[in-house]
Amino acid sequence: MPIIFEQVTHIYGAGTPFEKEALSAVSFAIPDEAFVGIIGQTGSGKSTLVQHLNGLLKPTRGRIQVGDWQIEPSSRLPAEFRSNVGLVFQYPEHQLFEETVAKDVAFGPRNLGLSEEAALLRAKEALETVGLSYDELKDRSPFHLSGGQMRRVALAGVLAMQSKVLVLDEPTAGLDPAGRKEILEAIYRIHRERKLTTFLVTHSMEEASRYADFLLVMAEGKVVLQGTPAEVFAEEELLRHHALAVPQTVELIQQINASLPGEQQIPVTLFRE
Ligand code: ADP
Repeated sequence: MPIIFEQVTHIYGAGTPFEKEALSAVSFAIPDEAFVGIIGQTGSGKSTLVQHLNGLLKPTRGRIQVGDWQIEPSSRLPAEFRSNVGLVFQYPEHQLFEETVAKDVAFGPRNLGLSEEAALLRAKEALETVGLSYDELKDRSPFHLSGGQMRRVALAGVLAMQSKVLVLDEPTAGLDPAGRKEILEAIYRIHRERKLTTFLVTHSMEEASRYADFLLVMAEGKVVLQGTPAEVFAEEELLRHHALAVPQTVELIQQINASLPGEQQIPVTLFRE
């Protein structure tokens, strides 16, 4: 689903002493099936931005288009709209609550009105997509799994909704490097197989450069840079100004490219570990 933000401003607690403009006139356009990395320091507005994608937050000013849907300050959004966009929060395992893994993952589809049988089929498919065995885990409590497994079960719960847009807010926070890689590889595979438009919020320029085809760099509520990873990483000075570093792998390719004629240069965007 293509997504357009037009001059989107979000103010928390407008008119109170705690008023905070967390997004300031943010504009961008994302084509269908893109993988978008959102990077920026803590407090730069990344979470606020992505919560607009499924109508959890509405713009104070401006307009958002998600496929054929329009979100404006006064829009009323039907439940049907929310199921278009799967949102995975930080520490998604905190949202697990059912007594078994199967019930937890089937909760969303059942809420969409699917029969018990169809919802469990969706759960089975989603668990297998994230590399977990349905038969082994279906009757287990989600609270007795490892950290990485819990996170995958939570991700499966969102995938079972079969939304066209997937939004992940720091999905690897708190995991070790191997766990991070596993989750990200699974997300990337799902993105390709299901042809999803995917947004990944991350602290890591390295992660963003490896998976995204389009980057939004945020600072103090504004998108200060946007473009392909190659375009964004070419702006080293601006990135450093916002305390963001060009990833080492990209830096290495740029150094190699400096000694190669144009037609032999390695495209940074194609680089994946
Ligand atoms: P990020 O995801 O980049 O860390 P956030 O979108 O969470 O940034 O926050 C952007 C700014 O908005 C921060 O200054 C934060 O303190 C503020 N903020 C976030 N959520 C709320 C809220 N519910 N009420 C008031 N201010 C908030």
